Amino acid sequence: MEPTGVLVVGSITADVTAFSRRLPRRGETVLGDDFTLVLGGKGANQAVSAAHSGAPTWMAACVGQDPFRDIVLSGLETHGVTLTEVRTVEGRTGVAHIRVDASGENDIVITPLANASLDETMVTESIERVRDRVGVLLLQLEIRTEVACHAARAGAAAGLTVVLDPAPAQELPDDVWPYLDVVTPNESEAGVLTGVEVTDLETAEQAAAWFLERGAGHAIITLGAGGALSVTKERTRHFPAYAVTPVDTTAAGDAFTGFFGGALATGLDVDTAIQYGMAAGALATTKAGASPSLPGKDEVEALIDNSMEGATR
Ligand code: ADP
Repeated sequence: MEPTGVLVVGSITADVTAFSRRLPRRGETVLGDDFTLVLGGKGANQAVSAAHSGAPTWMAACVGQDPFRDIVLSGLETHGVTLTEVRTVEGRTGVAHIRVDASGENDIVITPLANASLDETMVTESIERVRDRVGVLLLQLEIRTEVACHAARAGAAAGLTVVLDPAPAQELPDDVWPYLDVVTPNESEAGVLTGVEVTDLETAEQAAAWFLERGAGHAIITLGAGGALSVTKERTRHFPAYAVTPVDTTAAGDAFTGFFGGALATGLDVDTAIQYGMAAGALATTKAGASPSLPGKDEVEALIDNSMEGATR
């Protein structure tokens, strides 16, 4: 039997968020209305979403030696992510320092801290240790680029299906694309990487072609409320979004990639996995915050079932 697990190699942060009526001007102090401290980081969000999909999920990552460590680890554990590949290193756990105003406008400073300590050797060791139980490797770019690229090469060499969400967008070496089975950029990331401004399905397809020309197997351009465009050499297919009422679009992309990867690992076909990812992304927009907004499998399946009923009525 094929292994059904997911390994996420990526970032963990403590998301420290202050809410105020308006954001302070430069040098100004304002009084806030609320404050939250929760698990975050693109890697951790993907891992939580993959675990919610029902796939046994490991995370290879680094945390520091501070009170934030306990908060992020207990967050991951609560959501069912296995922690054996998370290393505690000297120094402090990564932090995302976020400010949000009443209209939802925000600014963010991400300080990688312990995330910068994740190295090639740790990644190789983790892949070796979980190899027998894992079929899919999920990556993003909040860790050092060289480490993410190394993970792609090592994951492909181990026979894993390698999925990269190239976020935050940054240039990658040309030789890495052939190791990526699937890339899942959103419109703006696709735009930054390919130079094609993505404004509609036609430009999304042009951007997707850029990834395929460089050797990626499958480009899924996520289009927010516009759904997703899936492009392989054989086929282009647009998936319309599930209808929801968004309140905060943070982490939709992480929900998508995590659930998609988990669904693939547990044996669903690629199109069904895209639908699960899209339903997870849609539901993540209906709740505030990042990791607390990531939906469970029941909610995802209910949204898919309800949409099918709506379509056949
Ligand atoms: P990111 O968060 O990286 O910008 P997207 O906004 O493209 O990623 O969201 C990922 C997926 O989540 C989309 O492909 C879509 O299926 C779903 N999604 C996101 N926003 C909405 C929305 N407003 N309505 C319905 N589905 C959405």
